[in-house]
Amino acid sequence: MVNYKDLGLVNTREMFAKAVDGGYAIPAFNFNNMEQLQAIIKACAETKSPVILQVSSGARKYANQTLLRYMAEGAVQYAKELGWEHPQICLHLDHGDTFELCKSCVDFGFSSVMIDGSSLPYEENIALTKKVVEYAHQYDVTVEAELGVLAGVEDDVVAEESHYTKPEEVIDFATRTGCDSLAISIGTSHGAYKFKPEQCTRDPQTGKLVPPPLAFDVLAEIEKKLPGFPIVLHGSSSVPQEYVDIINTHGGNLPDAVGIPEDQLRKAAKSAVCKINIDSDSRLAFTAAVRKVFAEKPGEFDPRKYCGPARDEMTKLYKHKIIEVLGSDGKAE
Ligand SMILES: [Zn+2]
Repeated sequence: MVNYKDLGLVNTREMFAKAVDGGYAIPAFNFNNMEQLQAIIKACAETKSPVILQVSSGARKYANQTLLRYMAEGAVQYAKELGWEHPQICLHLDHGDTFELCKSCVDFGFSSVMIDGSSLPYEENIALTKKVVEYAHQYDVTVEAELGVLAGVEDDVVAEESHYTKPEEVIDFATRTGCDSLAISIGTSHGAYKFKPEQCTRDPQTGKLVPPPLAFDVLAEIEKKLPGFPIVLHGSSSVPQEYVDIINTHGGNLPDAVGIPEDQLRKAAKSAVCKINIDSDSRLAFTAAVRKVFAEKPGEFDPRKYCGPARDEMTKLYKHKIIEVLGSDGKAE
């Protein structure tokens, strides 16, 4: 049993309370490898932004859970080395699907876990979430739950259709489970293809796809039912067109990739939404930078020469999200 406090990590309780009060959102960035983690920590240290490092079950399979945990522990030290005196770093399990997985993460030094019972019938979601909360809270580990179904693909999470969260269920759900935050479905979606072209309109000037707006009316209803309760948005990458273009002009093929416009996320961050999950954008930044090096320097075979530029591009992206979209800069000195 390792307690996260011994690793220098923090849970989400205080982060979220401050974010709800301050009208900003905490970035939740997924990581699977060293370059991503370096980029996240560098961006957060330079902007003094609290951060949630997310590990999905896919990441655990890819990178090994023991290694990921030591990387997160190392991240705290790295942040201090970069001159960030009091780093606010949370290590969070993204989309835990069983009690056993959540328990193993709690026992392993995670400071926060998500139990995603959103695909289960309502009462089963409550029972599973409550069980995880009861275990996690013994160790002061915070728990994110989910109500409503997001469309799209993210590692092992696949759903064809989305179902908005029903505002009439949130009080009952939050009260009976005791969860610390709630992921809701208001039209965000996992992956780089968040909407089918037929769900979008086309900008007559650029010919680019314009996605349907988020359901801010549903969000407002939920906020009314649970004032000040921390709300989480998954699937909130914006799929920057510049990266899609670089990928497509350097041998890639991502036709009609589309994300959530940043002005919508900016608006959400000012509300009770206090955690915004961003994964695909970092994958796109990484891939765009690597493809560019491969196309321009076909003789290059030192991974540092293409992972280095990828890391720089991700750092730029993370700083942009923190400063221009979430407003979390300067919130953790
Ligand atoms: Zn998600």
